[in-house]
Amino acid sequence: MMSPDSVTPLAPFMGYADAELDASERIAAAGATGSIHSWDLVTAQDGPGTRMTLFMAGCGMRCQFCQNPETWRMRDGIPRSVEQVMDRVARYEKIMKVTGGGLTISGGEPLLQARFVANVFHRAKVDLGIHTALDTSGLLGARLSDDELQDIDLTLLDIKSGTETAYKRVTGRPLQPTLDFARRLSDLGRTMWIRFVLVPGLTDAPENVAAVADIVAGLSTVERVEVLPFHQLGRTKWAATGEKYLLGDTKAATAAEAEAARYVFRERGLTVY
Ligand code: SF4
Repeated sequence: MMSPDSVTPLAPFMGYADAELDASERIAAAGATGSIHSWDLVTAQDGPGTRMTLFMAGCGMRCQFCQNPETWRMRDGIPRSVEQVMDRVARYEKIMKVTGGGLTISGGEPLLQARFVANVFHRAKVDLGIHTALDTSGLLGARLSDDELQDIDLTLLDIKSGTETAYKRVTGRPLQPTLDFARRLSDLGRTMWIRFVLVPGLTDAPENVAAVADIVAGLSTVERVEVLPFHQLGRTKWAATGEKYLLGDTKAATAAEAEAARYVFRERGLTVY
């Protein structure tokens, strides 16, 4: 396990991240236009069935294991209106309905643009009646009202570590907002899939895995847990960010290590993939 002292502090990222949050406030004030990084059409990923996944630009976190650092800057996205997004989603309405799929909004961190995201989800439910999913760290979950959460059928919630200390080391941000959001979703009866990335030497300490599993076991609406083994496929993208990639020497998690972590969740009666 990497000791806290062996990790370069994430403080230099924070000014940049806070600037992104300020930009979000400006864009989110209206919610009619969003900054979009990219789109993808996927099957059996990011929710059930065939899905359109919309990747929002901008993220205030700086996870050491981030595989998509190219999505961090909101200003690098393409501005699109709610209407433009809905026109595109509607092209796939038929296949989404046949397969039980729908729309997933991911990122980056979608809730940096919470008003826009809420507007798109509302239109997806009211106009198309399709399944909706939000892929989020939960850091900004308080930005969605209880009413807005009713438009989201499934939340893919990343819990990146199980203690405040480990979470801060991994993400540069506090854990508590994610715990608060998870509790709120649970109390409101909203379905969750929990995601946990197993990173050798960073998140795989037995006490950390057990802490995440304990958190999840205390929630009542978790349908499944996905333990995702860390890999190095995102490594080359870091060069373009100008930020230091701290996991250059970290090996990918093995299938056996991932299975051992899954067992910790299964021991608590959870369904794990
Ligand atoms: S929340 Fe997601 S996009 Fe943001 S830094 Fe972490 S892994 Fe990357």
